[in-house]
Amino acid sequence: MPEPTPTTGPASRARVVVIGAGASGLTAARDLAATGHEVTVVDKGRAVGGRLASRRIGEADFDHGAQFVTTKHDDVRDVFDGWRRAGVLVPWFTGSPDAPARSDTARDGHPRFRGSPRMRSLAEHLAAPLPDVRTGLRVTEVRADPGGWLVSAVPVDRSDPVRLTATAVLCTAPVPQTLALLDAGGVELTEHAETALRPVTYDPTIALLAIPTGPTSLPNEGALRLADGPVSWLGDGLRKGTSSTPAVVVHASPDVSRDLWGASDEEIADHVLTAARPHLGVDASAVYVHRWRYATPTGPPPGGDDLALLDHAPAPIAFAGDAFAGGRVEGAVRSGRAAAHLLTSALAP
Ligand SMILES: Cc1cc2nc3c(=O)[nH]c(=O)nc-3n(C[C@H](O)[C@H](O)[C@H](O)COP(=O)(O)OP(=O)(O)OC[C@H]3O[C@@H](n4cnc5c(N)ncnc54)[C@H](O)[C@@H]3O)c2cc1C
Repeated sequence: MPEPTPTTGPASRARVVVIGAGASGLTAARDLAATGHEVTVVDKGRAVGGRLASRRIGEADFDHGAQFVTTKHDDVRDVFDGWRRAGVLVPWFTGSPDAPARSDTARDGHPRFRGSPRMRSLAEHLAAPLPDVRTGLRVTEVRADPGGWLVSAVPVDRSDPVRLTATAVLCTAPVPQTLALLDAGGVELTEHAETALRPVTYDPTIALLAIPTGPTSLPNEGALRLADGPVSWLGDGLRKGTSSTPAVVVHASPDVSRDLWGASDEEIADHVLTAARPHLGVDASAVYVHRWRYATPTGPPPGGDDLALLDHAPAPIAFAGDAFAGGRVEGAVRSGRAAAHLLTSALAP
């Protein structure tokens, strides 16, 4: 299937506001724009990407959210092909990064890809052809309006509040954040949507960004995932090819992240680096601590087998995101595509 390209619209052109410029929101926005709808994407982050997150500190570049991407599903093959053709998705390594499964026989054989030059590049590529992507804009409520929806937002630079009217809304923020926006606007969802969405929960992850004092002894591609213990992931940006200077990312496990959530950055750095030291093989100095409150969805997907959810009360509103499809970038892309499909059908004359 060819990658969708935004076109000018049909007679049924609707105005859709997409909340969230992560993998799911941007995929959906592209598909909706390709069917001719007028799409505005808003995100509270300073840049697009959401959990496809990258940060430069000094000369070091860090991917502090998603570390790699798998491409197992044909229904979004065109998105991955588009990334590869544009050179923003490149191979990192083949096989499982799990310890201790490092032998050839224990590897799962799947290729793992990374963003180039960084993971956020994947989101930037999706956003590039979209005419109206507004970052630094925090949605505060979604409210029913005679024309459909009224989305109120506050710029993070504290300039004047913004109000967007929409025929339809797509919500791709983590589900508890989405529900808070609807609650603030007094939106009453159907019982089906309420029952599906209210129980959705996420595990947190604390990401520690650090500069190692020398070459790390992480397994050969610089990636190590641990099932047990205080840290769940260690990645070496220099060996990954995303940083031209030494840079490591260490993720605390969900339990340790919960325990350390309220601790100071210094306490977190001490704790996480002590746990990481035997795996890194060198000391490292912390440069940044990022707290992902909604890192990984837990429990069954809210849509069951459906990759997104549509509600009609009182106008079309759809829900998408990685919670619907397995807590991965690929799942978020699939969910965004499913949501665009649902909305396109709902908005058809
Ligand atoms: C530490 C970590 C490691 C991970 N590792 C991997 C990995 O190796 N491989 C993999 O495939 N996946 C990984 N993931 C998961 C992957 O990052 C996600 O599945 C995917 O990026 C989610 O995309 P999304 O669009 O559903 O959500 P998000 O990327 O979270 O996008 C939602 C967006 O909504 C925005 N938003 C929220 N509230 C508001 C508001 N009020 N107003 C405006 N905007 C708002 C947010 O700023 C965000 O940009 C990892 C995640 C984390 C946190």
